[in-house]
Amino acid sequence: MVIQFCGLSGVGKTTLATQTKMQLNLKGIAVEIIDGDVYRSKLCKDLGFSKADRQENIRRLGFIASRFSDQGIVAIMSVINPYEETRLELVNSYPDVKTVHLDCPVETLYKRDTKGLYKRTLLPEGDPQKLHNLTGVNDQFEIPLSPDLYLNTGSETVDECTESLCDFILTQLSMSALLQTIPKDNIILNP
Ligand code: ADP
Repeated sequence: MVIQFCGLSGVGKTTLATQTKMQLNLKGIAVEIIDGDVYRSKLCKDLGFSKADRQENIRRLGFIASRFSDQGIVAIMSVINPYEETRLELVNSYPDVKTVHLDCPVETLYKRDTKGLYKRTLLPEGDPQKLHNLTGVNDQFEIPLSPDLYLNTGSETVDECTESLCDFILTQLSMSALLQTIPKDNIILNP
């Protein structure tokens, strides 16, 4: 299974991916976190933050995630993933891709500002440190139209969100396991 996160910087992607991996590992479920920041410093070094590069970034990470998923490992893509078109492309390209929308009011993200990015958008024009392409502030984030799971990290705690995400993954895994026990001829999709 591939879990593709989408959500702004500071929304809690790294925190929830790490907590979820810990919880699922305790149950004997293997999880690989595909962290956007890590891959941007390695395999995706050549990519910037234009729309085309952000889309290419997701395509590459989606491919890697699908390889893990094929081996029975739950792959969590911890990435901003701002475009609906690319998210749907992944859903349609690989089996078992689930979209999880992590949401939080931008005012809360300005207060958290874990990486110091939000305050850089407030710098005066001309300041070399000013950020002009922070997703959700001055760069586009398309709200997912039909995510498989929605979590609001502004109103729910880390533990509550982790529990919801683990429950979601466990339910999906048992449904997949159940489907595999039914002979293929007996499954009628979209009658
Ligand atoms: P991202 O990876 O999306 O940039 P991080 O996980 O690095 O975000 O940072 C999120 C911050 O928000 C952390 O300091 C975390 O403790 C805090 N936080 C508060 N509530 C939540 C929640 N419900 N889920 C995840 N993170 C939360």
